[in-house]
Amino acid sequence: MSWEEISRREYPCTCGKSTYTEIREMDDWNRNREHIIINCPTCEEKENIAKAEKERKQAENREHLKELVLEIKPYFEEHYMQKWLDYFVSAKHKKAAWMLAKEINIERQSLSSFYQSHKGLSVDDYVRSLANPHNMLKIIEVLNINDNSFIKKVEKAIDLNKSVYMLRFY
Ligand SMILES: [Zn+2]
Repeated sequence: MSWEEISRREYPCTCGKSTYTEIREMDDWNRNREHIIINCPTCEEKENIAKAEKERKQAENREHLKELVLEIKPYFEEHYMQKWLDYFVSAKHKKAAWMLAKEINIERQSLSSFYQSHKGLSVDDYVRSLANPHNMLKIIEVLNINDNSFIKKVEKAIDLNKSVYMLRFY
C-alpha cells in the first residue's frame, strides 16, 4: 500500500523564529495521515525534551504500577481470597460462576467465549482469575471490604493503568 502526499503546508513555529511543515497523505483506501517536520532547531530541541520527559514519566508510571500490582495481589490473596471464593460457593459449575460474575459486572465475555478461554479450568481457578486489579474495586464493594489503605492502592493502580494505556497512543 502506498501513501501519496496530498498537501504540504508551512506554519510559523511556536517560538516564531522559523516554521514547521505539516504534510498530509492519503493511501489507496482513502485513509489520511499527517505528520509534522519541525524546521526550527530551537523548537525541535524543545519537542525532543518534551518527548523524553513524557517517556520518562511513562516508564516511571509503568514501574509504579508494577510495584502496586505486586503488592495488591498477595495482599488480596492473604486477606480476602477465601472470602471471595466463598462468595461463589453456591456456583457448583462454571456456567453458574460466569452468571454470578456477570451479575456483579466483572465479566465481559459472552458465555461461549468464556467457555473457550477457560477450557480445562475449575470453578475455583476461574473465580481466582477474576480477582485482578481491574475488577478489584467491584470486588471490594461486593465483599464489603473496609480497608482504606488497600482501596487507595487499588485506585492508584487503576489510575496509573489508565495513564500508561493512554500515553501509549501519543
Ligand atoms: Zn521555533
